[in-house]
Amino acid sequence: MEKLSLKFVVDSMLGRLARWLRLTGFDTLYFKNESDEKLLERTHNENRILLTRDRQVHQKAIKEGLRSVLIPAISKNEALALLSKTFNIQFDVNPSNSRCPICNGNIVPVEKEIIRSQIPNQTFEKYDQFWQCVQCGKIYWIGGHYESMRKIIAKIASI
Ligand SMILES: [Zn+2]
Repeated sequence: MEKLSLKFVVDSMLGRLARWLRLTGFDTLYFKNESDEKLLERTHNENRILLTRDRQVHQKAIKEGLRSVLIPAISKNEALALLSKTFNIQFDVNPSNSRCPICNGNIVPVEKEIIRSQIPNQTFEKYDQFWQCVQCGKIYWIGGHYESMRKIIAKIASI
């Protein structure tokens, strides 16, 4: 299956996992307060895969013929390793593919001069490439967190 064609719905208990999926480029819906019915409806209507920690919701999804993965009480990294194996996904951090971890919007390159007033001076001096979420306007750059994400991805591959 084509990597980025996978789209997810993530239940409220898996917020960190949802952020990671977005950062690595997956269209991921995440709701803090939404009924089980609504989660199942979005999964069905948008041909998504449900990721849930709730066994009952998972079983209900399967019964309805939906794709669902039960995520047990494991770490975020272990959960990512599980998804990597289940769907044959190679996680990658490339800002050009990333989605906004906050709102799931697409992120596009933006001219540094345009966003100058919106970022700290130090950041402006240090980095040349910036991206902006088309939906919420948040600005991103390849800082130290990308390095730590790469390390985590290497770790996931060895789980
Ligand atoms: Zn956003």
